[in-house]
Amino acid sequence: MTDTNKSLAAPAHVGAIAPYQAGKPIDELAREFGLDPATIVKLASNENPLGMPASARAAMLEAASSLGRYPDPNGFDLKAALSARYGVPTDWITLGNGSNDILELVALALLERGTSAVYAQHSFAVYRLATQARGARHIVVPARDYGHDLDAMLAAIADDTRVVFIANPNNPTGTFLPAPRIQAFLEQVRARHGQRVVVVLDEAYNEYLDPELRFDSVAWVREFPNLVVSRSFSKAYGLAGLRVGFGTAQPALTDLLNRVRQPFNVNTLAQAAAVAALQDSEFLAQSYRVNKEGKDQLCRAFDALGLRYVPSYGNFVLVHVGDAPRINLELLKRGVIVRPVAGDGLPEWLRVSIGLPQENTRFITALTEILKAS
Ligand SMILES: *Cc1c(COP(=O)(O)O)cnc(C)c1O
Repeated sequence: MTDTNKSLAAPAHVGAIAPYQAGKPIDELAREFGLDPATIVKLASNENPLGMPASARAAMLEAASSLGRYPDPNGFDLKAALSARYGVPTDWITLGNGSNDILELVALALLERGTSAVYAQHSFAVYRLATQARGARHIVVPARDYGHDLDAMLAAIADDTRVVFIANPNNPTGTFLPAPRIQAFLEQVRARHGQRVVVVLDEAYNEYLDPELRFDSVAWVREFPNLVVSRSFSKAYGLAGLRVGFGTAQPALTDLLNRVRQPFNVNTLAQAAAVAALQDSEFLAQSYRVNKEGKDQLCRAFDALGLRYVPSYGNFVLVHVGDAPRINLELLKRGVIVRPVAGDGLPEWLRVSIGLPQENTRFITALTEILKAS
């Protein structure tokens, strides 16, 4: 018997995935436009402009001596540090290769063909990717004022829905839902659907919130057995290149995530650096301060240029520029990389990560020049 069809045979739902569009790397732009990489400003991937904390670098270098061995599969030290910091037992914690990994683990554990996930329009692209990769259906709920419409999201939950993804603050729009709104949502989901619908509260930008807006969402995990709260070391902690994040949930749900997790999903260097970064409150405070000042700097410039923007609670600002492809190209020519967000349904907008003051100035100067010339 011969099978005459020898082409690649991926499931249709895999073929249908539009791959993630990452921010353009500095070296790639340098090659394309013949620019000196040292002069390029990258404000495209919400990375920490301060780089990684010196404390984490030192811990990482020390850990390098044991790289001949596999990482600790249970992340003992990092889980102990997180447990002490957030007051949750270690068996309520899942470590991830970035918090993206936590989102993937939830999808792997709970979604399959014939199920669905609910998330908002203009929300984080990985929700779509993780859902599609499982062959599950996505229910995309129209945004309200560029943010999550929780009433509509509650109403959109279908019989086959297993997961609701919420980014708070949201990326790429920067919007924020205050604690009481989320708590009310969690109570309504529990009342209507019990534990059949798991809510993922993705808080990658939590550390950038002003003190009066902060709330102990990790504590909600005690109250809601269908809740996963995820956090990242990529943003305020400055460890994007190492790939480390975590999720907290009650043990039964954590156990499910652990079943689909790769045994060594968080590498040795990342674990060591994250422990150090978690204890470096000075770096975290500096990240917050630089971000707040940079946000003011960008927003003042947008005001002066008469550009609309969405007030941001993250480390980036979404700004309306109209002809975004052209403005983006002109910025690239001037060695400034920002993020076009047409793929997120925002074709007239650009997302600008907040940089150091001089980086923000480079961007503002280039943008002003481009707008004045047109
Ligand atoms: C950046 C980001 C993440 C975190 O990604 P890592 O995998 O931890 O680097 C998660 N969610 C949102 C909404 C983000 O913007």
